[in-house]
Amino acid sequence: MALVVQKYGGSSVADAASIKRVAQRIVDAQRAGNQVTVVVSAMGDTTDELLDLAQQVSPDPPARELDMLLTAGERMSMAVLAMAISDLGAEARSYTGSQAGLITDRYHGQARIIDVTPGRIQAALDEGAIPIVAGFQGVAQDTKDITTLGRGGSDTTAVALAAALDADICEIYTDVDGVFSADPRIVPAARQVPFITYEEMLELAAHGAKVLHLRCVEYARRFNVPLRVRSSFTDKPGTLIVHDLEESTMEQPIISGVSQDLSEAKITVTNVPDRPGMAALVFETLAAIGVNLDMIVQNVSADGITDITFTLPTADAEKATEALQLRGDEIGFGALYTDLEIAKVSLVGAGMRSHPGVSATFFRTLAEAGVNVEMISTSEIRISVVTRKDSAAAAVKALHTAFGLDAEGEAVVYAGTGR
Ligand code: ASP
Ligand code: MG
Repeated sequence: MALVVQKYGGSSVADAASIKRVAQRIVDAQRAGNQVTVVVSAMGDTTDELLDLAQQVSPDPPARELDMLLTAGERMSMAVLAMAISDLGAEARSYTGSQAGLITDRYHGQARIIDVTPGRIQAALDEGAIPIVAGFQGVAQDTKDITTLGRGGSDTTAVALAAALDADICEIYTDVDGVFSADPRIVPAARQVPFITYEEMLELAAHGAKVLHLRCVEYARRFNVPLRVRSSFTDKPGTLIVHDLEESTMEQPIISGVSQDLSEAKITVTNVPDRPGMAALVFETLAAIGVNLDMIVQNVSADGITDITFTLPTADAEKATEALQLRGDEIGFGALYTDLEIAKVSLVGAGMRSHPGVSATFFRTLAEAGVNVEMISTSEIRISVVTRKDSAAAAVKALHTAFGLDAEGEAVVYAGTGR
């Protein structure tokens, strides 16, 4: 008997009909002889709607209360899914993240899982029931307050539970057939890949690919959780995330995917004195308010001053500017410019390590597509550029074609608004 953790995303449980369909899949998996634990996201765009509601009530809602509100979305779906399963004659029991033993730190809105104690889930399984766990949430170890894991966090709940239960597989069910070479909503010719390495998936998830939550991939790699992404609308096998492509029989492609990220802003700090310690002051200021930076560029300095540019989540741009302004005299910079209209476009592929000419093709392709490059950053297996938001889709499409990733047919998006 295999132990399977199945996670269903919002578009797979968007309405009553979808919930019944998913319930049937779950019961079928159990009747096929598996022990099944389910993790569920909020129905459809519920989380966004709850966020909109909070905004209407308060421009700056307390983080504790926002978490309490948002976790209600997953509570709704877990309860109705349990009802639908019970209607099919199987026993399901729903659990909040806290009841399921998802223990986190205290950082509301971006809490990290620090322990998983799934005693009640294991007991339910032992009794032949199907536990349904609310994704994306936990309880803080010290404050005992309810926390959320960050947008898209239900994937991470699923992997964390799979690790704690020592599951045979963690299946992430979504509205497309698996991991694609680009978001099929942007590139209809995107190609579904049967296998991808954790390393490449980490780079893609960290640079805008929304198919898997970044921390879910990190967690799965660290705890060796076999992870599969597949559609809840078909029976296709989807994409298996592997340590090494030799595990599959595939020849390693040079490039595995192209992604775009529209969630970042760019801040430039001008005329920073060019002395040791100045960059440290800038970045300590940002660290102190918990801002996660992405790209950082410092210009060649002239006349003893230099400009520092970095990207960060758009949601943090305002508080970052305020924090820097407060220490303006101490750091002694000139001006601060915030740019919200940027996008980051990334090309990822483990084959970059051993194949020359990837950067040349990358930049030639962007030039021919009329895309202006504002910042560049690379890792061993990735090239990213910052460009204007309105040229990102064109850049992604052009790169996808230039690197030979276009498929013959059109990718199918079964549901969801992609919000
Ligand atoms: N419902 C949450 C969100 O929309 C968590 C998730 O879907 O994974 O971000
Ligand atoms: Mg998701």
